[in-house]
Amino acid sequence: MGRVEYILFPNSVIEHSMGNKAVFLDRDGTINEEVGYVNHLERFILIPRAGQAIRLLNQHDWKTVVVTNQSGVARGYFPESLIPQVHRKMEDLLKQDRAHLDGIYYCPHHPEIGVPPYRQKCSCRKPSTGLIEEAEKELDLDPSKSYMVGDRGVDIEFGHQIGAKAILVLTGYGKGEWEYYRDQWKSQPDYVAEDLFEAVQWILQQEALGFSR
Ligand SMILES: [Mg+2]
Ligand SMILES: [Zn+2]
Repeated sequence: MGRVEYILFPNSVIEHSMGNKAVFLDRDGTINEEVGYVNHLERFILIPRAGQAIRLLNQHDWKTVVVTNQSGVARGYFPESLIPQVHRKMEDLLKQDRAHLDGIYYCPHHPEIGVPPYRQKCSCRKPSTGLIEEAEKELDLDPSKSYMVGDRGVDIEFGHQIGAKAILVLTGYGKGEWEYYRDQWKSQPDYVAEDLFEAVQWILQQEALGFSR
């Protein structure tokens, strides 16, 4: 449940739910092609229709928020300074599709690999929910009215942990995870979509049918 505020009028009580609805988006394998690790700008390539999908969300007043694990930093595959460059490229490419993101949050840590401060048991590596707590405050979000879209089991677990609905996309690692590992997941997706575009269409349909909370 999100925060609820009751506004009193002479003859009625209006229930007014606070906070913006958001679609939280995994990055690699969901927005851009999964290439193992994006350790160079050139390896960042948008998945077909991803820009259109995000534009649709923008047009329907959804906050779009990227939440991504980037343990490649802890693993020593690329410097943390590459991440903002990659995100600038992502935003530039999305702009060409007239789409934008409201927030981008990443975790550079890994619990066992690398050296401190990147090697640490942090609270921001999905499925932990630290990234959302930051986003929630900055963008006034209500996760209970929101969705999470990602290509891995941890994305689904993360989505449900924050109280959102969770959609698996079959791009990136999605198809393999779904086929071979779904039995081991702590929670199952509310919907399985071919790609981000289809996931967004499903979200908009749920809203139109009044299924959202
Ligand atoms: Mg992914
Ligand atoms: Zn972290």
